[in-house]
Amino acid sequence: ITSQSYVFFIIGASGDLAKRKIYPTLWWLYRDGVLPKNISFIGYSRSQLTIEQIFENSHKYMKIQEDEHDIYEKFLKLNSYISGSYDKSEDFENLNSKANKISHQVNAHRLFYLALPPNVYESVSELISKHCRAASPGWLRLIIEKPFGKDLESSNKFSQHLNKLYTEEEIYRIDHYLGKEMVQNILVLRFSNRIFSRVWNRDSIAGVQIIFKEKIGTHRHGSYFDEVGIIRDVIQNHLMQILSILAMEKPRSTTGEDIRDEKVKVLRCIAPIKLENVIVGQYIGDKKSTDSERQLGYLDDKNVPKDSTTPTYAQIIVFIKNERWDGVPFILRAVRSKALNERKAEIRIQFRDVPGRMFDEELSENNVEGTLARDELVIRIQPDEAIYLKINTKRPGEMNFSIEETELDLTYNERYQGVKLPNAYERLILDVFMGSKINFVRSDELQEAWRIIDPILAEIEKKKLQIIPYKFGAIGIREAFDAAVKQGFIYTRTYVWEDD
Ligand code: NAP
Ligand code: NAP
Repeated sequence: ITSQSYVFFIIGASGDLAKRKIYPTLWWLYRDGVLPKNISFIGYSRSQLTIEQIFENSHKYMKIQEDEHDIYEKFLKLNSYISGSYDKSEDFENLNSKANKISHQVNAHRLFYLALPPNVYESVSELISKHCRAASPGWLRLIIEKPFGKDLESSNKFSQHLNKLYTEEEIYRIDHYLGKEMVQNILVLRFSNRIFSRVWNRDSIAGVQIIFKEKIGTHRHGSYFDEVGIIRDVIQNHLMQILSILAMEKPRSTTGEDIRDEKVKVLRCIAPIKLENVIVGQYIGDKKSTDSERQLGYLDDKNVPKDSTTPTYAQIIVFIKNERWDGVPFILRAVRSKALNERKAEIRIQFRDVPGRMFDEELSENNVEGTLARDELVIRIQPDEAIYLKINTKRPGEMNFSIEETELDLTYNERYQGVKLPNAYERLILDVFMGSKINFVRSDELQEAWRIIDPILAEIEKKKLQIIPYKFGAIGIREAFDAAVKQGFIYTRTYVWEDD
């Protein structure tokens, strides 16, 4: 008797995601010996390609080391490529019979990664369910990438379509932020440290910021982003996911269902967003810059319509109406720009002022308007993972109580030198093999996230909310910082605003 086999299908194997993320990730997992032994990989898309061509395209992302060539050859041999349509039954029947042949089993477990544009999700998911299911006891797992719809209605429609074909158990909706080390660490930080768990509420916390800044990449088509905008692309999914983990009550256990139950519960407590708590912006070129790239704004991209009002910047302040969080602003800020130094994702939890003004006399000139700086816990998700707690300390060596800000600092690459952090796709794909659902989005979570975001998208459009221009490389949008302050999240550094 041969042991159970596995087949991993990459549907859309000719595409960008497959090339940059999926093939390299499968290679690393195979190289590290963490995948099941009897496994084969089948790439599928319409293009007439060979598996060698697919691997050539992906080669530079795979980072193969000198001493890894033998094992890489073994990996290559486990791969094959089949070309076919996304809408014809006979092509999926063909895929099915090839998979049976390659795995030498009709009941091999099957994992399907849909690395495709969403317009073919429906037909492909249907044809897979109809024609590519393994015989018992082989299971099927379907991995899908965002976007999960473009609004509540289309998202629900797609969920209903999937629910007719698959059980919830079989569906793995990837939000790759859930695979990041620091996002996973939130659970441990919150629920295994009394020092945090006791203050994680409205009595101690003044406000929370979840910040995302990323370069507009050349690999994603400008036209795709323009149809979607930053709120759908980042806030509805990644930032709402982080928010739900930060704010949820303590789950009963670490199982996927217990954790996801709590995430949904807290999302349900989010009040409708007021338009006054939304700020949107679009970046413009810096005409004074000598760098020609910096002179270009979003509308200068040839794939973007000249009159596009798609936001590349958005700040949304949400409130959670429950006993723990009532009145605490959760400020979700997402920026895509082209400035090179602008890539980070972090969480800032700002604590309330210390009552009783014992140190008024001694405050250093570094503190804004003579108030004591607030404590702030910063969780840096990327790049350079870190957790630091900004606190006040006595300025070392001074004879009086001169106060200055400092940090209790857990910067990962200093503290954990030489420890390799697996990337998000490595963790998540491995999770799918293991059947672990903690880090995947359940359909009710998805529906709640859309319930929160959908009305505001409609209102932005209907009321033609002003799109604030911000310059290439600028620090941010002043109105957004002001709005955060108004809700009680205070920036305490001495700071000179640089408008130009
Ligand atoms: P892609 O390169 O545009 O498309 C993947 C493959 O689908 C293409 O190679 C093409 O293969 C086929 N295809 C493209 N346009 C099609 C169309 N209009 N109708 C039918 N087939 C079409 O997409 P991707 O960037 O790999 O992204 C795949 C999915 O992952 C998308 O849903 C995307 O939103 C999501 N995603 C991507 C990234 C990323 O970094 N790329 C990140 C997050 C999420 P053939 O012509 O050979 O069939
Ligand atoms: P910070 O400069 O005190 O705060 C930066 C934050 O304030 C960012 O979120 C920024 O927004 C926001 N901001 C900037 N200008 C603003 C304005 N005018 N109004 C309102 N908000 C404004 O720096 P920090 O990150 O808290 O770090 C404090 C110290 O910790 C630094 O000395 C740093 O080197 C140190 N530290 C860093 C690490 C690390 O990164 N690994 C580890 C330990 C210690 P945007 O996000 O929009 O820019």
